[in-house]
Amino acid sequence: MNTSKQSWQQFDADHIWHPYTSLTNPLPTYSIESASGVRLKLTNGTELIDGMSSWWAAIHGYNHPAINQAIAEQTAKMTHVMFGGISHKPATALAQKLIELTPTQLENVFFSDSGSVAVEVAMKMALQYCQNTNKKEHNKFLTIRGGYHGDTFLAMSVCDPVTGMHSLFNKVLQKNYFADKPTRRFNEQWNAQDINSFKQLIRQHHNELAAVILEPIVQGAGGMWFYHPEYLRQVRELCDKYNVLLILDEIATGFGRTGVMFACEHSGISPDIMCVGKALTGGNISLAATLSTKQVAEGICNNNHVFMHGPTFMGNPLACAIANASLDLLCNSPWQQNITRIEKTLQIGLEPCRKSPNVADVRVLGAIGVVELKKQVNQATTQAEFVKQGVWIRPFGKLVYLMPPFIIDDKDLQQLISAVVEITTK
Ligand code: PMP
Repeated sequence: MNTSKQSWQQFDADHIWHPYTSLTNPLPTYSIESASGVRLKLTNGTELIDGMSSWWAAIHGYNHPAINQAIAEQTAKMTHVMFGGISHKPATALAQKLIELTPTQLENVFFSDSGSVAVEVAMKMALQYCQNTNKKEHNKFLTIRGGYHGDTFLAMSVCDPVTGMHSLFNKVLQKNYFADKPTRRFNEQWNAQDINSFKQLIRQHHNELAAVILEPIVQGAGGMWFYHPEYLRQVRELCDKYNVLLILDEIATGFGRTGVMFACEHSGISPDIMCVGKALTGGNISLAATLSTKQVAEGICNNNHVFMHGPTFMGNPLACAIANASLDLLCNSPWQQNITRIEKTLQIGLEPCRKSPNVADVRVLGAIGVVELKKQVNQATTQAEFVKQGVWIRPFGKLVYLMPPFIIDDKDLQQLISAVVEITTK
């Protein structure tokens, strides 16, 4: 097939899959030339203010000099080397940082390539832990409705069966247990009834459970819902009571997005296993990690057992060096002040949306602002309207949401907010 005469944009439309779209009737794509700070530059010269942080990831914006320097320095040494039988400073420095930043009980780190794989690894850790600690019949997982954990098969089995985008595969997926979605909001008064469904399921099925898995506080791609910290606190208590491991998926929430370094801090609890990804490298390259307690690691490895996972690009030195630079940038920045500033501005700025008959709900937590509409958004036309307004905002379903880089200034943030208000209320 000779494709050399096609423009690269036409080649893309004809041959390349994009996320969650058709190949034969694709949604439009926008051609990007470069990105810097909070701006994406299209090939036609148009600049767009980024409201998405490339799906939770680009917390420092794009083309950051400190990250670029780390890339150049690491590239001059080595970009990759296998992790089997080899170790290197970028990975060990990063593991040390992660162990220091995350809740104290987490002491061991498994590096992988993406969030979904980090979730697979976490779930496999729980399964192997049970196999090796006289709990061989513990093969199921308990989670909550409205969750999203990734696109691989074990991860899909704990995504919301309806909104989790994976209902097509229901016949193949392992059947797990789903408690009702928590209904109490982050800032609402706690209602003790909210935990009843979870409590009943864990009481009934704890003898089959390898682990409980959920997204702490913020349910992301499953509906952008912020639930009450007391719910998560009680989940921890019930896991302890029934001796079930707790896996927290901090892939979207980790590294400051909700106003604390990890969302579980809102509840003052610590998991047995935790997944991180996305903002780990400041959104510059794919890397994820699964952390566990010593108890989990020792349970897996007792009696000369090994953990059965080992991706080709495990602990990739370039990705680890970038993550080290990104975490240094974050920890040395006034990120809490930035998140508080963004949160206040989003709260005030998005408030007018509430009055619109199109709008079902407005919610803000940390640097996340969500406008939930009553009807599904036409993604292609709404996206085009946003681009016309000079902003990059990608709605899905009934949700129009903002999660800008932490470094965004007030003027750019206002422009993002004005575009959302105008388009959701007209
Ligand atoms: N868990 C959560 C909470 C996520 O939001 C995502 C990605 N949207 C994933 C897991 C999967 O991560 P990745 O896309 O890097 O595989």
